[in-house]
Amino acid sequence: SQDRIFNFAAGPATLPENVLKKAESELYIWRGSGMSVMEMSHRGKDFLSIIQKAESDLRTLLNISSDYAVLFLQGGATSQFAAIPLNLCKPDDTVDYMVTGSWSDKAFKEAQKYCKPNVIWSGKSEKYTNIPPFDALEQNPAAKYLHICANETIHGVEFKNYPTPENNDGILIADMSSNFCSKPVDVSKFGIIYAGAQKNVGPSGVTIVIIRKDLIGNAQGITPVMLDYKIHAENNSLYNTPPCYGIYMCGLVFEDLLEQGGLPEIEKKNMKKAEILYNTIDGSNGFYRCPVDKSVRSLMNVPFTLEKPDLEAEFIKKAAEEKMVQLKGHRSVGGIRASIYNAMPLAGVEKLVAFMKDFQARHG
Ligand code: PMP
Repeated sequence: SQDRIFNFAAGPATLPENVLKKAESELYIWRGSGMSVMEMSHRGKDFLSIIQKAESDLRTLLNISSDYAVLFLQGGATSQFAAIPLNLCKPDDTVDYMVTGSWSDKAFKEAQKYCKPNVIWSGKSEKYTNIPPFDALEQNPAAKYLHICANETIHGVEFKNYPTPENNDGILIADMSSNFCSKPVDVSKFGIIYAGAQKNVGPSGVTIVIIRKDLIGNAQGITPVMLDYKIHAENNSLYNTPPCYGIYMCGLVFEDLLEQGGLPEIEKKNMKKAEILYNTIDGSNGFYRCPVDKSVRSLMNVPFTLEKPDLEAEFIKKAAEEKMVQLKGHRSVGGIRASIYNAMPLAGVEKLVAFMKDFQARHG
């Protein structure tokens, strides 16, 4: 609608307009229940129907088999950085981490408190602009799992395929916070997939964990109940009061993604948006520059710099005047970052590239 602006934020991020309107229409009274979703008992039949539908639609979208539990939790992806080693390891167990950016680095650092993680590869010396060939990885055969961040939100580095874990149980774990439901994923390749909702599938406050059921039930004794997968799985995410309204919103987004034709269709749209943006950067004769290796550029978060860094503040300000906001790069890396998640319409990216070309013509 006329009053909405294009929000390129990395998360919380833009949501689909029709989902917001649907939520608006149901906000005051949800489907004849006489109350809003925010007021309902989390154990009543209405909310149970909401969480069950959200789970079943997510299972359809990602083709998740019954070998996996789907949990709707709280505490952000950050809580999972601790929950994973606490649930899967004893304190002396070793685990492998690939560090491809700030988020996998944070996950690694948190794991140091609960087990013995190794960094088997780090992109730090190259400022996190690439992902190595997997056959060059020196995996530890005794590792309990191999952890990756499937899409580094700050650095814009995305795995296009996945390493095969060489540990005994073959467990691959992925933080998919910033590319969750942006493309089809073969869930059966993973032991755990986890994601905060606030980029692609809903508001902040909901953390989704998809976990192979045989990995549940071995948590360390010190594990807080709120981080124990067994407790949440046995109680269908209703051990304590879940983030009810957020789960409802995620459910509306899942419905919308299915209505759009599911994740293959979503991926096509995301590829198209990313392509026109990267083409504009690469076709600018160096006026704009994306440091990320072409083979691993993210479809979701597009970081770039200006040849003349002095112009970056002007770029951000002028873009905001034209109703394109939140284009400032993360404070740790600077520059510009355009996050173009599922809900960013093609029109938003088209407007951004038109602005970029115009800005270059005026300042180039
Ligand atoms: N992992 C990734 C890839 C992220 O982008 C973020 C948030 N930006 C996090 C983890 C942390 O998520 P949360 O704020 O939900 O704890």
